[in-house]
Amino acid sequence: MSDLHSNRPEHGAAPASRFDAVIVGAGFSGLYMLHRLRQLGLSVRVYEAGSGVGGTWFWNRYPGARCDIPSMDYSYSFSPELQQEWTWTERYATQPEILRYLDHVADRFDLRRDIQLRTRVTAAAFDEATSRWTVQTDDGASTSARFVIMATGCLSVPKLPEVGGLETFQGALYHTSRWPHEGVDFSGKRVGVVGTGSTGVQVIPVIAEQAAHLFVFQRTPSFSVPARNAPMDPTYASWMKANYDEYRRKARETRAGIVMEANPKSALEVSPEEREREYKARWEQGGTGFLATFSDVMRSREANETAAEFVRAQIRATVRDPAVAEALSPRGYPLGTKRICVDTRYYETYNRDNVTLVDVKASPIEAITPTGLRTRSAEYALDSLVLATGFDAMTGALTSVDLRGRGDRSLKQKWADGPRTYLGLAVAGFPNLFTITGPGSPSVFSNAIVSIEQHVEWIADCIAYLRARGFERIEATAEAEDVWVAHSKEVADGTLYPLANSWYIGANVPGKARVLMPYAGGVGAYRKRCEAVAAQGYEGFSLSRAG
Ligand code: FAD
Ligand code: NAP
Repeated sequence: MSDLHSNRPEHGAAPASRFDAVIVGAGFSGLYMLHRLRQLGLSVRVYEAGSGVGGTWFWNRYPGARCDIPSMDYSYSFSPELQQEWTWTERYATQPEILRYLDHVADRFDLRRDIQLRTRVTAAAFDEATSRWTVQTDDGASTSARFVIMATGCLSVPKLPEVGGLETFQGALYHTSRWPHEGVDFSGKRVGVVGTGSTGVQVIPVIAEQAAHLFVFQRTPSFSVPARNAPMDPTYASWMKANYDEYRRKARETRAGIVMEANPKSALEVSPEEREREYKARWEQGGTGFLATFSDVMRSREANETAAEFVRAQIRATVRDPAVAEALSPRGYPLGTKRICVDTRYYETYNRDNVTLVDVKASPIEAITPTGLRTRSAEYALDSLVLATGFDAMTGALTSVDLRGRGDRSLKQKWADGPRTYLGLAVAGFPNLFTITGPGSPSVFSNAIVSIEQHVEWIADCIAYLRARGFERIEATAEAEDVWVAHSKEVADGTLYPLANSWYIGANVPGKARVLMPYAGGVGAYRKRCEAVAAQGYEGFSLSRAG
């Protein structure tokens, strides 16, 4: 507690600057939020901890990093001009290309003049007398703002493995989300990678091509489908640009924010031949559409197992050593309940002579040593160790800021038993604070850009509404929050997600409450709910004027 305490704004110290709104973070969310609030005529300051804009795509520079939602979908829709003028070069753009896009957005909309880089927000406290927030930054300054918008990202706080000895390692140590800007040359090196989630699955094939030897330390195998990445097909891109409005409208109404052909049939009602044919077709097509092969893959354990077994069969057909194929075959949790990975030659990589898969579930990592990594049964000498060990997802970036609402109540304490929000947008007890893709919203269960745009637009409309009617304060009611939390749980319990030890439920961080954090009801239905709340004068919120 004492370290948190020291971050708090000094009582009585006058903030050095005043804005209508402070936005924390300059990724996809923060950039668009700034643009929208400026259009409303607000004075805005964005604080970004990184030395550049781009968020996820600024930080995650590991080799092989690219999106897993096709780029023509994984991009902003708010500006028809931007949409028409930007050209993606691959079906799934690489990290450098996405970062170039976000830099272009920052320049095109003249956003940089309101963004303060290299500045971390450490604390923010709500003053009930003035209905304003005092925001504290790590440069020692404080700022007063009517509204605070946390655009801090669902996957922005890296997580290190709980293994002793990391600090003793004498080789080169990397976390994939804090990758050196100048890149890394693994030629001639013995490299270890810990982690086989989406990041590991992307980085492993690329490092394998360069390293003298690669050891993959796998605790839980992932289900991965091929991306079938390719240079952008100009005919498809032209079609998309000609039809973007209609396409984006449809995407907003879907479950996952992406238009995909969903098969209405149950996996259990068709013949084994038809089932195999359908899975094969989706596998050949590539990408996350595999999850939509049948209507009940994500709802019925038995249906899910047919998809899981299909993937295991692909692994067996690809990986030559049957023991390695078996070790790579996920079991014990349903497919899709940990985010499905999208890869390029992942399973094929294990046929290389310079790649060794080490099963650290069977023989856990005991320690990182000065010269490498020690498991219960062996010691591995390493020149470089790459940690692809994920994030303190969804809540980590929010609770690492000492946020104090009414009555000096801390968000971290309020969320000790799991996050509680109204619509993933607001928190009872924390007036004039908004979260973009917060826990309780579809966020990571969707094409993030569709969810981000919807939140940004909802928040901007809400602020415009308040200002037009002279309201100074908006706060989610405790009752509305309770109802939303209960509804989210009910929806979650109707899915298979609670069956996996995933970061979706906080299982990757010791001591974190186990709650399915994203809302599993789908972006289309969720959007309608948010629109209805706004149309009813912000139902479930209390609005108040000065005094
Ligand atoms: P972020 O991009 O995470 O940006 C948040 C920013 O806030 C960061 O720059 C951070 O430095 C800053 N910040 C946080 N706390 C503070 C603070 N206290 N003070 C100051 N600054 C702060 N989603 C998809 O839908 N499709 C994909 O293909 C996809 N690929 C991904 C690949 C990787 C490697 C990762 C990690 C995530 C991926 N995601 C994907 C999810 C991705 O995070 C979102 O798509 C999207 O980029 C999030 O944007 P954001 O602006 O909300 O958050
Ligand atoms: P992740 O999915 O949480 O995976 C972390 C990996 O590290 C897991 O395999 C985990 O094993 C392993 N691990 C953690 N601690 C360990 C330990 N002490 N010993 C051994 N293994 C350990 O993290 P991520 O791969 O960075 O992905 C996070 C999310 O970011 C993804 O789900 C996705 O949403 C997004 N992302 C997307 C893309 C993309 O394709 N566009 C790429 C990267 C990331 P356990 O499973 O056993 O815990």
